[in-house]
Amino acid sequence: MTPTRPVAQPTPDTREFFALIDEGRLALPTCAACDHTFLYPRSVCPRCAAGEIVLKPATGRGTVASFVVNHRAAPGFGPGPYALALVRLEEGPLIMAGVPGDPDRVALDAPVRAVYEERGDRRVLLFEIVEETG
Ligand SMILES: [Zn+2]
Repeated sequence: MTPTRPVAQPTPDTREFFALIDEGRLALPTCAACDHTFLYPRSVCPRCAAGEIVLKPATGRGTVASFVVNHRAAPGFGPGPYALALVRLEEGPLIMAGVPGDPDRVALDAPVRAVYEERGDRRVLLFEIVEETG
């Protein structure tokens, strides 16, 4: 039996964020009062403490700020090796996600874009390396 690969378990503060990911859309929590965009999703702005947060569509583009290659897969995540990256989104926030494909292609500052892997009736946000052209 193949173990089910894990998906995020939303909380009240992250439900809408993950519902959009399930639709293949990335949107970032943004403060309606001061326009600060942040992660992780929460109900109060970490900059000004205002309580009106909206989800703004994001480009899904970013660069690799840091990464690790796991050679021994965590339960449910195998087989290894695979890369996990901390991605600096164009909008500013950092987000951690898997990078599908050959982990040897992952490098600092490499451009990436959001892709969505189907897992049952859910989707998981991953970032794939964007091939440099020209
Ligand atoms: Zn704010």
